[in-house]
Amino acid sequence: AVKQPSDFIRTRIQTDLLNGKNNGRLHTRFPPEPNGYLHLGHAKSICLNFGVANEFNGLCNLRLDDTNPTKEEVEYVDSIRNDVKWLGFSWDDREFFASDYFEFFYEQAVRLIKMDKAYVDSLSADEIRAYRGTLKEPGKNSPYRNRSIEENLDLFKRMRNGEFEDGTHVLRAKIDMSSPNVVMRDPTLYRIRKVAHHRTGDKWCIYPMYDFAHCLSDSHEGVTHSLCTLEFENNRELYDWVLENLELFRSQQIEFARLNITRTVLSKRKLIQLVQEKHVNGWDDPRMPTLSGLRRRGCTPEALRNFCSRIGVSRADNMVEYSMLEFCMREHLNAIAPRLMAVLDPIKVVIENYPEGQVEWFDMPLDPEDESKGKRKVPFGRTLFIERDDFKEEAPKKYHRLSVGKEVRLRYAYYIVCQSVVKNEQGDIVELRCTYDPATKGGWSEDGRKVKGTLHWVEAENAVKAEVRLYDYLFKVDNPSAEDDFLTCINQDSLKKIEAYIEPALNQREIGDIVQFERLGYFRKDEDSTQNKSVFNRTVGLKESW
Ligand code: ATP
Ligand code: MG
Ligand code: MG
Repeated sequence: AVKQPSDFIRTRIQTDLLNGKNNGRLHTRFPPEPNGYLHLGHAKSICLNFGVANEFNGLCNLRLDDTNPTKEEVEYVDSIRNDVKWLGFSWDDREFFASDYFEFFYEQAVRLIKMDKAYVDSLSADEIRAYRGTLKEPGKNSPYRNRSIEENLDLFKRMRNGEFEDGTHVLRAKIDMSSPNVVMRDPTLYRIRKVAHHRTGDKWCIYPMYDFAHCLSDSHEGVTHSLCTLEFENNRELYDWVLENLELFRSQQIEFARLNITRTVLSKRKLIQLVQEKHVNGWDDPRMPTLSGLRRRGCTPEALRNFCSRIGVSRADNMVEYSMLEFCMREHLNAIAPRLMAVLDPIKVVIENYPEGQVEWFDMPLDPEDESKGKRKVPFGRTLFIERDDFKEEAPKKYHRLSVGKEVRLRYAYYIVCQSVVKNEQGDIVELRCTYDPATKGGWSEDGRKVKGTLHWVEAENAVKAEVRLYDYLFKVDNPSAEDDFLTCINQDSLKKIEAYIEPALNQREIGDIVQFERLGYFRKDEDSTQNKSVFNRTVGLKESW
């Protein structure tokens, strides 16, 4: 059963399949260049490429687009594999490296030369640029454009053999220097770069340009629908020209709008800068829009996939609110995260009528709406911590938390009434003296008296200190990329580390666990945790707060 088309790409795919195009085959690819970590924009592309393949019974390749020798590193390849898997997609044995096609690309270039459709140009890069013309002005033919096929074949072979220095010659397609589409004005297909490649080493010193390598890679892999972002719209004509002239399998390029999100940047170049200049603590810093950063923050693959499906795919450029992603995180975490208690900004509570030295352990559910998630043991005693802002000395009428003379419920434990406050010499409240009602054990009373406020708390003797990292947006403005220098609008207060008190069961969670701190938000236990100290990252608060 074919799913209802829900966007222009799915509509197009469905039409192609119904018309029997490509023998009813659908084959896509996700082609990251291994020169950085994957980010939210890539998630959109992954969900689209792997998503349509899954929906329409097709295949999707993972292709490492590593034709550029300088910037690529093995670390990036590993992170890409890991992130795509984490997002929930698999490619079985369909993992390819564009660098494996170098010989094939070379052969195709030779074929173009033999058809008199490519030539070796010996102008400098600046001259080539000047000869190319502008949008309003046609370009001029290079004086080398009329080299004979034999001479071109010979020069191209010598380029490959390393006889020439970088920048002395390039191979160009012979198309039309007056084409209204500047991309078509004899585009460069190959350049000399005497640089080692992370996989092919020194085997090659000429490397193909993106526009030549990409269409050939797609065609070579039998990709039917080559989905890419709108910047490549003008390049489609060249994509088609190459495959048509070489009479190769005609993959189809289809463009969609790239993802932009407020309060962040989605460009590898900028993300690399954030990492290298140490504005963040690495690619997986929880403030980063990278998949590894989001994972460490506590975002789940389900939340991300849901986000991608909500933003949809279109040809209209737009800017998605970061809060939409947070909404998706909350929605999933609300369903899966067990709830435990932590106090981030503690104030001491002494229960005057609770026996000194006594501790009782309650069995409390990990999720009040889902018993199957089980229970944990929570200690209660004479000295507790509650959140400082859950108490007000001068409480307004509608204030349902604690104040002197008022009764509140301590979650799953007892009702307490505040009797008095203890202040230090500066007049700050340092302790709340309270009494409890032993008949309200479990947090309810038989007489049904009304208690509006329910507070989270931890018992002081058994509470464990933990580091909690609170994150804010990395940028102070919605669109940092629109600034002259995006670094000038970095939010200097995007990370706050605090010491919190957590219940013992929370301290025993595993690294990677995501939990709700009751009433506070969702938190993930971080890799920086040690035997002695748990570290939690706040993923997102319980409610939208911006
Ligand atoms: P950047 O512009 O950040 O350097 P890129 O496009 O150069 O990214 P690639 O590794 O070449 O990064 O991209 C792999 C795939 O992911 C491409 O098909 C690309 O179109 C897609 N992609 C990259 N960024 C976005 C984005 N913001 N929205 C949607 N798709 C994206
Ligand atoms: Mg790139
Ligand atoms: Mg790019």
